[in-house]
Amino acid sequence: MRILITGAAGFLGSHLTDRFLAEGHQVVGMDNFLTGARANIAHLAGNPRFEFIEHDVSKYIQVEGSVEGVLHFASPASPIDYLQHPIPTLKVGSLGTHNTLGLAKAKGARYLLASTSEVYGDPQVHPQPESYWGHVNPVGPRGVYDEAKRFAEAMTMAYHRYHGVQTRIVRIFNTYGPRMRAHDGRVVSNLVVQGLQGQPLTIYGDGSQTRSFCYVSDLVDGIFRLFFSDRVEPTNIGNPNEFTVLELAQLVREMLGVTAPIKHQPLPVDDPKVRRPDITIARTVLGWEPAIDLRQGLERTIGYFRTVLGR
Ligand code: NAD
Ligand code: UDP
Repeated sequence: MRILITGAAGFLGSHLTDRFLAEGHQVVGMDNFLTGARANIAHLAGNPRFEFIEHDVSKYIQVEGSVEGVLHFASPASPIDYLQHPIPTLKVGSLGTHNTLGLAKAKGARYLLASTSEVYGDPQVHPQPESYWGHVNPVGPRGVYDEAKRFAEAMTMAYHRYHGVQTRIVRIFNTYGPRMRAHDGRVVSNLVVQGLQGQPLTIYGDGSQTRSFCYVSDLVDGIFRLFFSDRVEPTNIGNPNEFTVLELAQLVREMLGVTAPIKHQPLPVDDPKVRRPDITIARTVLGWEPAIDLRQGLERTIGYFRTVLGR
C-alpha cells in the first residue's frame, strides 16, 4: 500500500513510518517540523519506498498518485508544546483533520486518527474504558489540545457515517522511547535527561499523580493492528501498568545509579490526577497487549539519551 503519514518527522510518526516500510509498504511522510526533527527521518534518505513532503497539513493537501492509507499523526503532543503553540494545535486538530479526511475520501483511502487519552481529561472513571465520555475543561490551557482531538474524533466519525470513509481512531496513552526530544518537557524525557546531566529531578506537585507508560514499539504494533482491523469506534492503546510520577522518578534514579535530589514544582493547571487505559477491547478485538515493561523500556530510552547527550 502507499500510505500517507502526517507528523512523520515526529516521535511516533517516524516509528510508524519505519514499521510500514519494514512491512513492505510505501510511505509518503508529511511534516512542517513544528515540533519534529529532520534527524528522525534522516536514516530514510535514499530509501526508494519513502518520499517526504514538507507541508503544513492545516492547509490544503495535495498528493499526486494513489494513496491507500492515511495516518494523521501531525500535532504538537507534549503539554509544553501545545501550550507554546495553542492556535496551530487547534488548527491541526480541526483543519488538519478535515484536510486529511478529505484526501482519504478523494483517494478512497483507509484513515486512522491519532487521538489521545486527553479526551478523557481529568477522569472521574478509573481506569478509562472507551465508553467513558471524559471530564475536560474546554477553556483551560489544555483545552486547546483536548478539544481539538475531541473535534477530530467527531469529524472522523462524520466522514465515516456520511461519506463512508473507512476510519479508525486510536486513543494513545503516554508513550515514551527513542526519538523523544530531550527537552520536549514530558515526564520520562525530563527525568532521564535531568538524571544523566546530574540535575535535580523535577516533580510537579507532590508526585502522587499517576500515569501508565507504554513503550513505543508496543504502541506502534497496536496501531498497526488497529489500522488493518475492522474496528471503527475509538480504541485505547497503552500500557495498563500504572505508576505515580514519584515512583517513576525513583526508578529512573535507581537505573541511572544517581542520587539526584527531587525538586518539586507547581502542578500544571488541570493536570490529570490519574490515567490508566482499560485495554479490554485492544486485547479481545486486536489480540494486542504490551510486551515491554517499564524497566525494559527505560533501559532502551536511557541508552538513546546517553547517545544523544554524549553521556
Ligand atoms: P511529536 O511532536 O514528536 O510529533 C508531531 C509531529 O507533527 C512533529 O513532527 C511536528 O512537526 C508535526 N506537525 C505538527 N503540526 C503540523 C502541521 N500543521 N503540519 C504538518 N506537521 C505538523 O509528537 P508525538 O508524540 O510523535 O505525537 C504524534 C501524535 O500522537 C500526535 O497527534 C499526538 O497528539 C498523538 N499522541 C501522542 C502521545 C504520546 O505519548 N507521544 C499520546 C497521545 C497522543
Ligand atoms: N511531570 C513532572 N515532572 C516533569 C514533567 C512532568 O512531574 O518534569 C508530571 C506532569 O505534571 C504529569 C505527568 O508528569 O502529571 C506526566 O506529564 P507529561 O508531560 O509526560 O504528560 P501528560 O500525561 O500530563 O500529558
